[in-house]
Amino acid sequence: MPAIKVITFDLDNTLWDVERVMIKAEQRLHSWLTAEVPEVAEHYARDALNELRMAVLAENPDLIHDLSKLRREVIYRAIRECGYGHGEAGSLADVAFAEFYEARHRVEYFEGALETLATLAENHLLCALTNGNADFKKLHLDRFFSFGISSADVGVGKPAPDMFIEALTRAKTQAHEAIHVGDHLIDDIQGAAEVGMHTIWVNLKDQPLSSSTIKPSATVNAIRNVPAAVLTIEQASW
Ligand SMILES: [Mg+2]
Repeated sequence: MPAIKVITFDLDNTLWDVERVMIKAEQRLHSWLTAEVPEVAEHYARDALNELRMAVLAENPDLIHDLSKLRREVIYRAIRECGYGHGEAGSLADVAFAEFYEARHRVEYFEGALETLATLAENHLLCALTNGNADFKKLHLDRFFSFGISSADVGVGKPAPDMFIEALTRAKTQAHEAIHVGDHLIDDIQGAAEVGMHTIWVNLKDQPLSSSTIKPSATVNAIRNVPAAVLTIEQASW
């Protein structure tokens, strides 16, 4: 039995470049609006939609933990403000969101990401932990991940302890038998370390450590180096 039983993975910017997929998904949303409700596309170019997003968030701060609900609400409001009634705006917003959501899952994995998950899944229970709205099942990552937890599921995102603790509970594992892998120094590394988990910082852009108080257990500059980092942590844990 390995010393490390569970490995939790962040998704966006750990397994794929989220900015890249978001740009394409927003283009797809805008094309759909242009074709189906052109007055909305005209009134709400990307910047105007961002302003509306800020306004919706100011009214409902909790929506930051449920990005799907937030985006659907922003689209709905934009359509409403162009004179559509509640029912029609709701139906249009549902279809517009579905267009966006489908495109949001057209991710391009970082080199070696799927192979790495396959390797790790042979000897460890893997789980996805995301503050975003990518659905690991929609990506067929349930081949590797036994379960996934999103900030929308628990009502608060990383770095709060809730998602990490929920993962440990569901995996029936202690924090010292678990590693969290992620790209974000605060949300992933500091958050996981604070509940006592080991951490692997995926630092693909060679960023400097921004704070001397955050110390990942290991750092990798390519996702394919994660299994070796896991082994190093396991050997140190014996
Ligand atoms: Mg991330």
